[in-house]
Amino acid sequence: MSAPLVEPTRDEFRKFLEEAALYDKLPLPKGMSSLMRLLNQPPPLDAYCDVCERPSTFGFHSNSVSVYPAGELENFYFDMTYKCSRDGDHVMGFYLRAHGVELRKIGQYPALADIVAAGLSDYRKVLSKEHLSGLKKAVGLAAHGVGAGSLVYLRRVFEALIKETIDLASVEPTWDQAAFDQLRYLDKKIEFLKDRLPGFLVENKHFYGLMSAGIHNLSEQECLHLFPIALDGICAILDQKVDVQKSREREESAKANINALAHLIKA
Ligand SMILES: [Zn+2]
Repeated sequence: MSAPLVEPTRDEFRKFLEEAALYDKLPLPKGMSSLMRLLNQPPPLDAYCDVCERPSTFGFHSNSVSVYPAGELENFYFDMTYKCSRDGDHVMGFYLRAHGVELRKIGQYPALADIVAAGLSDYRKVLSKEHLSGLKKAVGLAAHGVGAGSLVYLRRVFEALIKETIDLASVEPTWDQAAFDQLRYLDKKIEFLKDRLPGFLVENKHFYGLMSAGIHNLSEQECLHLFPIALDGICAILDQKVDVQKSREREESAKANINALAHLIKA
């Protein structure tokens, strides 16, 4: 006997609207009463606003439901509109179908892949054009239900981050190429490069192995479940690189300002 379905919480409904790919489903164990409970208190959403070009909070604005069906849920279609808290002209919309004991997302504007991809544009300072586009492609594939393929693109970005570090390190006078060549496995190479890589990557050096195992051993559905976790991992690594770069830029600008001030005082 399968376990009884648990009623989704408001937070799970929020996550479903924010992150679920098209045709993903949310259980409605009590049919209409489960749906009514969710729609009576629509959760606010956190999402990247494609017009503001930064993360924002979206408040529920309206839906098309005026009369609920009296009996069982059958082919019940409705939409939900959300507005950006900075400007009410910036909207997000969802089109949903409730049928039997499940709710499915069957339409979304802006497209989930576009929202996530726009949010990744901040990484253009620390990723080449090719790998930024690979990262966006990974998000697009996952949003269209391609599991293993989306992980392949993420793994390539990860490999590029390691390769870039090796290329930079190998021209340093203290670099020990012979010692590095003896290392067969990537986790050992990461350990060797630990002072040059973001801390998050070094602490989670088995991450690459997990992605590879996912590509080779997991089903498409399991890969899709792994995808947001793997994407979070890559973003954590990239966030650290962005932070390092920002602090370097701040230092350089402070140094230039101090020099200019010293020059002014002398003059
Ligand atoms: Zn906005």
